Amino acid sequence: MRKQALLSVSDKSGIVAFARELVALGYHILSTGGTAKLLAQEGIEVQEVADYTGFPEMLDGRVKTLNPKIHAGILARRPDPEHMKALADHEIDPIDIVVVNLYPFEQTIAKPDCTFEDAIENIDIGGPTMIRAAAKNHESVAVVVDPADYELVAEEIRAEGAVSAKTRFELAKKVFAHTARYDAMITNYLTSLDEEQKPGRFPAVFTRQWEKVQDLRYGENPHQQAAFYREVNVAPGLLAGYEQLQGKELSYNNIADSDAAWECARSFKEPCCVIIKHANPCGVAVGADSAEAYAKAFKTDSKSAFGGIIAFNRIVTRECAELVAHQFAEVIIAPEFAEGAMEIFSQKKNLRLLKMAAGEAANDFDFKRVGGGLLVQTPDTQLCAEDALKCVTERVPTESQLKDLMFAWNVARFVKSNTIVYVRDGMTLGVGAGQMSRVDSARIAAMKAEEAGLSLEGSVAASDAFFPFRDGLDVIVDAGAVAVIQPGGSIRDQEVIDAANERNVAMVLTGERHFRH
Ligand code: 5GP
Repeated sequence: MRKQALLSVSDKSGIVAFARELVALGYHILSTGGTAKLLAQEGIEVQEVADYTGFPEMLDGRVKTLNPKIHAGILARRPDPEHMKALADHEIDPIDIVVVNLYPFEQTIAKPDCTFEDAIENIDIGGPTMIRAAAKNHESVAVVVDPADYELVAEEIRAEGAVSAKTRFELAKKVFAHTARYDAMITNYLTSLDEEQKPGRFPAVFTRQWEKVQDLRYGENPHQQAAFYREVNVAPGLLAGYEQLQGKELSYNNIADSDAAWECARSFKEPCCVIIKHANPCGVAVGADSAEAYAKAFKTDSKSAFGGIIAFNRIVTRECAELVAHQFAEVIIAPEFAEGAMEIFSQKKNLRLLKMAAGEAANDFDFKRVGGGLLVQTPDTQLCAEDALKCVTERVPTESQLKDLMFAWNVARFVKSNTIVYVRDGMTLGVGAGQMSRVDSARIAAMKAEEAGLSLEGSVAASDAFFPFRDGLDVIVDAGAVAVIQPGGSIRDQEVIDAANERNVAMVLTGERHFRH
């Protein structure tokens, strides 16, 4: 019985040489229109699938290989006498090798002028059917979807007369990963059309694909295993677009904290520095440049900054690097590092430097794993505009207090709840994070400011959610703050507003809260 290979590829790189090799090794070549034409031009003996099946390619190529003569040839169990008899009865020759790569759906939709019709026409039907059939029947068939595997397959046939069982199994696994990725791309594309029309629409079934960037040494703790994945076929979101310029390999916690740091830093328009410890900012500041922003951010809590993750939204200059070099940091993140800064950091071999890609999009959804399920939400990207603030007290914030209130409000978004943040002159003075009561967060933030030698007299404060009682506000005013920003919306709002008036502080309401867990 003659050995047969079916070749039908969109990406034609390497196919001519491989086909020539297969012919030399005694294979009869079956091929579809475009591929057959190319091979024939190169003087390779090839039979068109249409000629073999007796059925023409039709419907603009939508139907080329969808024929029992092809699929029975691929799917027949070779040692099974009944299967082999069925093939013989219908004059079907077994197909031993399937070489297919699919219509370039990904490249098609990446084109700026791609129409919906282009995208639909580039959904391959016959290709996935053939490779899935061949992968299912990998005991008898070798299936190649990646031109990088041509050489290995040719080599094994040359050496052993056939492709080894191990390679056939590996190639089959590659097929299902390939078709799963392909279908996920199609799903992502189609759902993205929905989402454009209806932001935040949630698909009935979440079929996204994530590809591994790297294995990690361990997870949050050394007894946990971990890896980092990036989402397939979306613009690099936040961290996935990083380039590591130097330093030790990133750990699980490094990546999680870097994401938090970068997310916060990039949300400010002015030059900003964010120092993160265990997912919470322990210092955030804006300044004339990165150096000034860092000097201010470091002052907030220089003790906690040790071993921190530091993000900048502007170039890190030599001057800035000189300042940062005095402290121990795990990771430094910025859109750019000046040559002089690189020189200074190169003395610290372990220090990880991440250069972030410009213009990456925010994630479209946030995920949180819960037992046996997934919580999905749109990310918290909303930020109340200054002119939407509602002043509810007799005392009105001054211009500079208003600026600080807006700064504090933006910082509060990136602090785990319950959050109280004290601010003055574009820098955090005290950050109270992750407490079960708002009063405790207010106390802790004030205590930390005092420890750092920073006075809260005349400062402003932000609360990520409303005050359920006046007690939290009283702690803030006792600490020295004179203006407060908070969402409002408590049934005791009036009690809290009365307290603010009684204590002669200004209070503005945002109407939106920023819990973060
Ligand atoms: P060619 O350039 O050889 O004409 O076409 C090769 C492409 O057609 C490959 O990407 C292959 O997956 C795809 N293909 C093969 N058979 C069919 C079919 O029956 N229907 C569709 N839609 N695509 C096919």
